[in-house]
Amino acid sequence: MRQHFAVFGQPIAHSLSPFIHAEFGKQCGIELDYVAIEASPEDFPTAVAAFRAAGGRGANITLPHKQAAYALCKEVSEYSFNVGAVNTLMWQDDGWMGCNTDGVGLIVDLTERERLDLRGRRCLMLGAGGAARGVVPAMLEAGVAELIIVNRTAARADELVDAVGVPDRVKSRYWEDLAALGDFELIINATAAGHQTTVMDLPFSLLSPRCLAVDLSYGKAAIPFLSWAKAGQCDHAVDGLGMLVEQAAESFLRWHGVRPQTDEVYATLRARQDALISAD
Ligand code: NDP
Repeated sequence: MRQHFAVFGQPIAHSLSPFIHAEFGKQCGIELDYVAIEASPEDFPTAVAAFRAAGGRGANITLPHKQAAYALCKEVSEYSFNVGAVNTLMWQDDGWMGCNTDGVGLIVDLTERERLDLRGRRCLMLGAGGAARGVVPAMLEAGVAELIIVNRTAARADELVDAVGVPDRVKSRYWEDLAALGDFELIINATAAGHQTTVMDLPFSLLSPRCLAVDLSYGKAAIPFLSWAKAGQCDHAVDGLGMLVEQAAESFLRWHGVRPQTDEVYATLRARQDALISAD
């Protein structure tokens, strides 16, 4: 029987998730449909309820609804509980079970696809929204030594640091003080700035020669941050396309009990994205 899935976000029209899950379904012989549903923050709870009423079994949640999705769940995984953000919903008996696959998706991409070792790195996280919340505990598990979180709205960085609760390893600092923070061996851009016309004004003093720069966004949205990193002689710059595919595979595993192969889907999307960027 065909099963119904969706991704909720705003904006969502250009989401790659419907393609990824359709490919995974074909690969694993599972009949499914997976659609993108645009919902404003005000409409989000009603939109999820309507999706469930129409037979929805599971959903991915993206910007800006990850914290709102947490509030809709009757139960959440320990990981989601710790960070207060959900990117995967699974219908179970009489309510939504929520979990978060962003962190594992990022770490699988960086350590297995990119073959990078995160252990012992001094790390800077720009942003403290839903995506940042999803990846911080996984980065700690992957062995980063120290993590400084800086967010445009300082209070959200403080809240995230409090939620993580490891004050000797995870601290917040002010955006205005970026130039005084020294250099880092891993910088993660978890802001949504790349989707806007504003360009973040980041000092090159943040970059060390062996720095790994990671933008969680991909496509054109990742260009400003990754160009800044390359201009500062950064050793390795990675966008969020691999993370997107890996977090999707982890959601698929939770819904269907099988983890699909990701290399082919990743290669297809990488080729499409490169073609789109060079056509501009
Ligand atoms: P949220 O809306 O939850 O958070 C947005 C974050 O970006 C906040 O920290 C916000 O700061 C910050 N921000 C927005 N505009 C600016 C700006 N002009 N300058 C500095 N900071 C800014 O979004 P998410 O956390 O869900 O998503 C963040 C990014 O991560 C997006 O680009 C998204 O596409 C990407 N992502 C990629 C995934 C993947 O699989 N590759 C998975 C999840 C997300 P403030 O608090 O001050 O508003």
